[in-house]
Amino acid sequence: MDQKKLETYFHSLDRSFFVENNMKEYAGTDEPLPIGFGQTISQPSLVLEMTRLLEPEHDSKVLEIGTGSGFQTAILAKMSAIVYTVERIDALSEKARNRLEALGFSNICYKIGDGSIGWQEFAPYDRIMVTAAAGVLPDELVNQLAIGGRMVIPVGPPSFQELKLVMKTDNGEINIKTVELVRFVELKGRYGWGK
Ligand code: SAM
Repeated sequence: MDQKKLETYFHSLDRSFFVENNMKEYAGTDEPLPIGFGQTISQPSLVLEMTRLLEPEHDSKVLEIGTGSGFQTAILAKMSAIVYTVERIDALSEKARNRLEALGFSNICYKIGDGSIGWQEFAPYDRIMVTAAAGVLPDELVNQLAIGGRMVIPVGPPSFQELKLVMKTDNGEINIKTVELVRFVELKGRYGWGK
């Protein structure tokens, strides 16, 4: 991964562009902020850390679960070849799409639905980023990860979760490392915390 490109783009990205007017004055803080519908834009330092863990390459095909505001999507799209992003709340997906198109991204495909089961049609993915807390590690996401691929996903109860780095080795084995404790909103759907 091109670390310098990641840092340069991350620091150039105006987070206030990704939040509603009433939150713009707080966009410079290193805190999660509400984006409506009970959802949040993540803490910027965690977005950067999770992107470093994911290690997207310029030719990577990336699946993102939880489009939210589109802030993380922009970073993934800048760092990789193509991003497939899934969001369950249509109004959030639509707003994120408008923002990302206004920024000039043409390498992002959007889907509204339950991302806990991935996006089978375009699998396998070199990288999978999940930005909501899964109840368990979703089998479908593991199956949709390419050989040599990496997935970053918070797994655990709504109060706090373990951030997991899941790697599929060249012979198809699954290695899982626990990185740290984090707190994300709930992933809904089949592998989440209800509908
Ligand atoms: N990465 C986002 C950003 O930069 O703004 C923040 C994502 S927010 C913490 C988590 C998002 O996951 C919410 O927008 C929520 O609606 C979405 N979500 C929750 N469960 C989902 C599911 N099963 N499929 C797709 N999206 C889901």
